[in-house]
Amino acid sequence: MNAKKTSLYSANSAQLAALDNLSVPTLIATRDGSLQYANKAARHLLAYGASISHPLSGQELFNRLDLTQTKQLKQACERFCDGQLSLTFFYGEHQKRIQIFLTPLPTSTLAEELLQITLKDVTQYEAAQHLPVHFHQAMQQTEDMVMVTDCHGSIEYVNPAFLSQTGYSEQEVIGNNPRILSSDEHDRDFYAQMWQTLRAGESYRNIFINRRRNGERYHEEKTITPIRDEDGQISHFVATGRDITDLINSEQRLNYLRRFDALTGLPNRQRLSEQFEQHVMQRRKTPMALFLVDLDRLSRINDSLGRPAGDELLRQTANRLRKALPSHFVGRLGSDAFMVLAEEIQTPDQAAHLAQKIQQVMALPFELTQAELFMSVSLGITLYPYDGDQFDELVNKADSAMHRCKEHDQHFGFFTEDLTLQTQRRVQLENQLRQALLHKEFHLVFQPRVDLENGQINSAEVLLRWIKADGKMISPGEFIPVLEEMGLITSVGEWVLMRACIYASQWLKHGHQMRISVNLSARQLRQPNLPEIVERCLSSSGLPPELLELELTETSMLEDVEHSIATLSQLREKGIRIAIDDFGTGYSSLAYLKKLPADTLKIDQAFVQELDGDDPSDRNIVQTIIQLAHNFNLSVTAEGIETEDQLKIIRELGCNEAQGFLLAKPMKETELLKTKRQFEERACLSR
Ligand code: C2E
Ligand code: MG
Ligand code: MG
Repeated sequence: MNAKKTSLYSANSAQLAALDNLSVPTLIATRDGSLQYANKAARHLLAYGASISHPLSGQELFNRLDLTQTKQLKQACERFCDGQLSLTFFYGEHQKRIQIFLTPLPTSTLAEELLQITLKDVTQYEAAQHLPVHFHQAMQQTEDMVMVTDCHGSIEYVNPAFLSQTGYSEQEVIGNNPRILSSDEHDRDFYAQMWQTLRAGESYRNIFINRRRNGERYHEEKTITPIRDEDGQISHFVATGRDITDLINSEQRLNYLRRFDALTGLPNRQRLSEQFEQHVMQRRKTPMALFLVDLDRLSRINDSLGRPAGDELLRQTANRLRKALPSHFVGRLGSDAFMVLAEEIQTPDQAAHLAQKIQQVMALPFELTQAELFMSVSLGITLYPYDGDQFDELVNKADSAMHRCKEHDQHFGFFTEDLTLQTQRRVQLENQLRQALLHKEFHLVFQPRVDLENGQINSAEVLLRWIKADGKMISPGEFIPVLEEMGLITSVGEWVLMRACIYASQWLKHGHQMRISVNLSARQLRQPNLPEIVERCLSSSGLPPELLELELTETSMLEDVEHSIATLSQLREKGIRIAIDDFGTGYSSLAYLKKLPADTLKIDQAFVQELDGDDPSDRNIVQTIIQLAHNFNLSVTAEGIETEDQLKIIRELGCNEAQGFLLAKPMKETELLKTKRQFEERACLSR
């Protein structure tokens, strides 16, 4: 030992210092395995966990090793001729296992009998090819696919399972990037998340859909682990994976059976309920409608034509619903009941329209092998979240609505009965309005407007009337908003405007100069080509523009003030008059009065009818409005004059014109001309 010490001590101290500063853990040992010296890095590595307050000499370190380790070290040195050796050490209380690679080399600079042993902690390299024989063997034999890449993703090692399952040869993959396996099934986010996890030094585990060499896709349950080198840098990635394609396929099949109806292929109750939950989770309280579509008399068809015919009918129903409602979720609840989850439907009216659509689709004949037949359906509708927020509850309520609808022979029914009546009336009205347009059931009446200065009828307001085929009259207050929503008001409105211009132009030709005023709805005002339409009506009827007045409510003018101002100014520039209708019922913003391009202000009948009451403030309000309007150079018309008192008061307040049942009700054209003459005669007499 002494001799050996001497040989070590004879080494140049500068050389030893250099050795000590070396970052590679290095030992100096004699060829018979006696440890002479350990540099700082080696002491650190071998002392594992023990604090090194003072530099340990090789011997001290040696003393710290247990007997087995000492023996192993000795053997390593003796077997130095074997080249590299791997040893396993257990350290500390918890017997932490570390794997160390020893490479003994003869020292060229120290002394001949000494060995310089470099150490490498390869504990984390177990998966890599440089591992000890038994690990390598394990990887060669396992059925799992193993792939080791360097830190840049270049493949360094793959095991035979990898080769046989992917179909690649070793030459094709080594040096290549794992991208060769990619199937384009995963998006950028998928890989971004993988890299984020790996770069953070954590293992990434997921199911990858990859592609074999022959293009076939397979599902691989894969774990990728980053491996760090002794400096703590990620040097390699080890991926181990299992082909789970068969498992997935069988799971998918099971899943499919659990959630889809075998006969029609539609989602079943379970899947419908999941979809509902998803809506509730993602869109919270956003309304949604649930339709229970029940086939009437399916059992009778089963009895008369046989079950296969009934099955065929159900399949065709499923196809029809799916095709007709591509943006809604269609499923089968069971037996003869289907369900539609309509996420886009948010109001009862929209639901009623969809119900109508379902009914229309189902009303077409079904062609079965044995027969062609007609089916009808009963529809029960519930609205989430109004009728409930649980799937089962909503289905039950839709079911009772459906039964009620069957009992009353109705087409569809809401759980809330009021809604059923309301929407059914509405849908009916829409259908009738379409018919009305086809059958020309609209006509016009005229209500005279009396000039309070000279008592003459200088203008008349044209009002739309709808008399149904059964002779019943529907008020415009009821059907105009529906025409608006149906988008039909623009064409009806244009018809009214054209007819009105033709009437007034005819009157003029026959010597009756009378201005005609036409009501325009908000939607008409928003039409970008309104000025052109008006122009066309004027030119084709030959009516001078100053004999046309357009009435717009304050509310519709204020919907898009800038646009209204621009359009109305354009019309006024042509000489057409503009009236603000029903003033006092909308915003009644006096501030806007100044801004709006108008000639006339029509005070709503609600104000006028209060005038002869006891409350003097009503009179004050009307007085203020009239004064203000006059300040802005607006002529004022009082609407809805029904009593002599009202007429007297508005006259006193300086109103320019009056309109109302007291003076004249809306009437036909012939009557209008007669009434105008009567007013002229009366004025002559009173002069
Ligand atoms: P409006 O433009 O304010 O028309 C005046 C309404 O008051 C008319 O009702 C008229 O019959 C009614 N009226 C007139 N004098 C009296 C009265 O002394 N007492 C009472 N209680 N009512 C009186 P109508 O014809 O039912 O029209 C209602 C509304 O429908 C109109 O209100 C107008 O906003 C709209 N409308 C009528 N025709 C058309 C049209 O062709 N196009 C558009 N867009 N709307 C129209
Ligand atoms: Mg009007
Ligand atoms: Mg009015």
